[in-house]
Amino acid sequence: MHYTWKTVGKRLLGLALVISVSIAAVYFGGTKAIENVLQASVIKQPYEAPVIVLDAGHGGLDGGCSSVNGVPEKGINLNILLHLRALLRMYGYNVEVTRDTDCSIHDEGIEGIANQKSSDMDNRLALFNEYDHAICLSVHQNQFTDPAYSGAQMFYSNQVKGSSALAQSIQDAFVTHLQPENNREIKLCGKELFLCYFSENPTVMVECGFLSNPEEAALLETEEYQQKVAFTIFSGLQQYLATLI
Ligand SMILES: [Zn+2]
Repeated sequence: MHYTWKTVGKRLLGLALVISVSIAAVYFGGTKAIENVLQASVIKQPYEAPVIVLDAGHGGLDGGCSSVNGVPEKGINLNILLHLRALLRMYGYNVEVTRDTDCSIHDEGIEGIANQKSSDMDNRLALFNEYDHAICLSVHQNQFTDPAYSGAQMFYSNQVKGSSALAQSIQDAFVTHLQPENNREIKLCGKELFLCYFSENPTVMVECGFLSNPEEAALLETEEYQQKVAFTIFSGLQQYLATLI
């Protein structure tokens, strides 16, 4: 909760309204009316919706990992992000994205792939930290040497309060909506997950599934499943936000 002057102002306004209605009730309505007013006088906490910042991992020359069918992660991440953005906008959220095309977002004039990657990550982090009241999600796909591994898993850092609960909420949504057999636990990470660790807002890295698993890769490559994944992330986010109201 951020106590801005606007918030304080709203509270004072609400209090003034309750007092004035109570006084009016004493004059015009008697005891029953006073009780009614008192029941209605619980001042609700004002709720300020956060900006939702979405990041589609990789992009441009950086394809991320590849599926068993040779499909790069970057496009799957982007498609899921675009579906998720559409859903969030439909519900009235203010949504910002690090990219909505197949590109790296490094500064102009930067030479060399390593320098471009570093600039690209700095710019993604800058967007994560641009707002005082935001929630940040970075969409990725997983990969492992053993093709048997499958299932979504959320990664978070404990640098910012809220990230763990957000990760758990999205993890639970995957179990509820898509993967009832998924018993993965949310995973705490350190500096190696740059965006999660250095973000100043609640942040989760959403690993939607394993591109090294043939069945899951085949699903993740379809638009229908990408939509389902987007809805699942949306649902988990909604559950988390409901706990803040
Ligand atoms: Zn990735």
